[in-house]
Amino acid sequence: MTDQCQYLEYRPLSGTGSSEEGGDSDGAGSQEPRAYCTAADTFVQAMRADVCNLRYGLDPETDCEFYRDAEGLPAASPGEGAEAEFDAGGESGAGNTGGASDTGGDRG
Ligand code: SF4
Repeated sequence: MTDQCQYLEYRPLSGTGSSEEGGDSDGAGSQEPRAYCTAADTFVQAMRADVCNLRYGLDPETDCEFYRDAEGLPAASPGEGAEAEFDAGGESGAGNTGGASDTGGDRG
């Protein structure tokens, strides 16, 4: 049993000459192998690496469109997978009616 996506490989950055998605500001000719997706034929974004490595209960089959595309699976429908989260928060609070009537009378 593997603990990573079947399309995940590690390749060295140097020599590829491709535009990297992640935006590595480390520079200095890093020879560290980077996560590479053979399905999308590109280096994996850092935020997607969790899916590639099956972390946090993520599953490429439901959480990665590259995987679904490579496997011939239908696109994820709304309400399915981790990307389906939708913020439906509403702001309410426009009903503030102040009613402080001061009818004091101190006469003397
Ligand atoms: S990007 Fe998707 S298909 Fe590619 S290795 Fe990661 S999980 Fe697998």
